[in-house]
Amino acid sequence: MLPNMTPHDNNHNNLHITYIKEALKEAQKAQERGEVPIGAIVVCQNRIIARAHNLTETLQDPTAHAEMQAITSATHATGGKYLPDCTLYVTLEPCVMCAGALRWAQLGALVYGASDPKQGFMRMGAQLLHPKTEVVSGVLEQECAAIITRFFAKKR
Ligand SMILES: [Zn+2]
Repeated sequence: MLPNMTPHDNNHNNLHITYIKEALKEAQKAQERGEVPIGAIVVCQNRIIARAHNLTETLQDPTAHAEMQAITSATHATGGKYLPDCTLYVTLEPCVMCAGALRWAQLGALVYGASDPKQGFMRMGAQLLHPKTEVVSGVLEQECAAIITRFFAKKR
């Protein structure tokens, strides 16, 4: 059971798809700025409390990943430094740095689209996250992977 869902909610997959689509909109915004198109949102009690995308080029900051921006924005919205009742949706499997940040945030649940075999945290294992963080992967996987593949194909 994800923290933003009620016990009677049997539309988990539909909700995940709805929210990953919102993260994809953020990825699109990143692309429009010339950023690698990765987007994230944070949902708390069925409400989107943060939207963010990758800003590493804009800010010239290698830590400005979508997830890091989303955590900062979400903690501002909730007024606390932990996010145990929140779900973070992100288009790409988080890297090790972001998984560490999500651990510090004590995130309730993580839902991601495409896997990242090269940079993703799962190389190290889900224990990088907080023990209470639930993980769902592969939601709209192809769409989430395609936006990045297209971005790099154009760059070549
Ligand atoms: Zn990251």
